Amino acid sequence: MPPGACYTPLASGRATAARRSRSLALAADDRPARHAEEKKNRRVPAESAPPSLTRRSEKSPPRDGARVSGAGLEPSEPDVSEGPARHPVDLTDGLDPDAVKVVRRLTRHGYDAYVVGGGVRDLLLERNPKDFDIATSARPDDVRTLFRNSRIIGRRFKLVHVLFSQGKVIETATFRRAPDTSEREGDDLLIRNDNVFGDAHEDAARRDFTINALFYDVENKEVIDWVGGMPHIQNRIVHTIGDPVVRFQEDPVRILRAIKFSARLDLGITPDVYDAIVQCRGSLAMAARPRLFEELLRLLREGAAHRSFWLAWETGVLDVLLPELSAYLSDAEEEDGVVWRVLRELDRRTRERGEPFDDVVLWTLLLLEPLREVTDGEKDRVEAAYEFLEPLVDRLNVPRRIADAVRRIVAIYPRLEAGRIGRFGKTPLFALANEVFEIHRGAKGHRVRETLDGPRADSSELAGPKRRRRRRRRT
Ligand code: ATP
Ligand code: MG
Repeated sequence: MPPGACYTPLASGRATAARRSRSLALAADDRPARHAEEKKNRRVPAESAPPSLTRRSEKSPPRDGARVSGAGLEPSEPDVSEGPARHPVDLTDGLDPDAVKVVRRLTRHGYDAYVVGGGVRDLLLERNPKDFDIATSARPDDVRTLFRNSRIIGRRFKLVHVLFSQGKVIETATFRRAPDTSEREGDDLLIRNDNVFGDAHEDAARRDFTINALFYDVENKEVIDWVGGMPHIQNRIVHTIGDPVVRFQEDPVRILRAIKFSARLDLGITPDVYDAIVQCRGSLAMAARPRLFEELLRLLREGAAHRSFWLAWETGVLDVLLPELSAYLSDAEEEDGVVWRVLRELDRRTRERGEPFDDVVLWTLLLLEPLREVTDGEKDRVEAAYEFLEPLVDRLNVPRRIADAVRRIVAIYPRLEAGRIGRFGKTPLFALANEVFEIHRGAKGHRVRETLDGPRADSSELAGPKRRRRRRRRT
């Protein structure tokens, strides 16, 4: 498909309420993506430039000096007949000693066991891994028998949590394979059943991106690569294992994961993967809503919210998931508008404090500008916010607790801005609202305290939402 061939430029102009509330399906099918070609002339501050391949290759070559280009980097289906590539690398210093213990005990008992996934990827990219997962030929019951301090979790696909001190968990999963295509219905590629045990190479191949499918052999100090992931680590690109269109249709949440890894790890996306994101974005509407909600939160939590949402907007993914926000952004027509500045400030503070903000703070910040637009001048701000949020809450399965807190913060916001805090200052919601306020003010260039002192605001303290009855509108 030639770049941008089936997409027409976005209409601009002020949004109407009707446009804001366009249905999910309409947003997915009719709205054109803001393909890289269309945005070529947009002014994007270098620091905030989204990490899409086109821009990376033009402006910032990857660290090893090789130009990131699609040519020759698209993997075909993994060929396992010749066995995996083995790369001698000593990752010992970065590994978690407890993960090493798990691997060693499994291999001593005759099983294959490797450190896999994000931990290996992050070490190779010289990042601090969040955690370490193990993949093994041992069945869950065998793992359970070897580790007294473990428990089997999961109903459909069982895996084992091996528990260590201070709440550390080493997730240990038996190799599994992707279901046969013959097990799927008709042309439908969506994977509904992902719980069949398999071999090591099948386990590598069923993973999402090549950089996430590298196995580390602790004993021989080697990375075992069945899928061509090492060249992608070296070239710093995100690529699906196999055809990106197929892999995104199998599981559309992978689209959000591609955006997350590209943004968080500063990796390029090859043109074929970028085009597949644009092409398949509509299928996000079929993904499980709690997974979408969780992945969107991950985009906000990890210090790369600005780049993530930019990429999501540019590819049209935001039109599908958050058409309300995407319409607002298109109307604002500014690359340096408040929403973008808020996300940049959020990233700065997240990195500074080294931990994510509360989910309520994240959702309020993301939606604050469009919410202010719909609530300003309204007599009943809570009701106006309710009407704006309701379709979004349904679409993404936003927990009531969060939606309710967002609404209440937005309703009280003008009073915060005016410094009239009153009794609200004594409610559990105040700490969260104050974090939103400080980040928002920081983004608008006001001087604010450099660090937010005092205890971290935490919405788990909030009482559950009162069940709200919709009031009838008076005509
Ligand atoms: P993070 O650092 O964000 O945790 P991660 O790569 O560890 O990144 P997880 O969600 O913890 O991501 O998943 C662990 C591994 O499971 C991934 O590295 C990948 O190999 C595999 N995986 C996760 N989600 C999918 C998916 N939707 N499709 C295929 N494989 C997946
Ligand atoms: Mg992980």
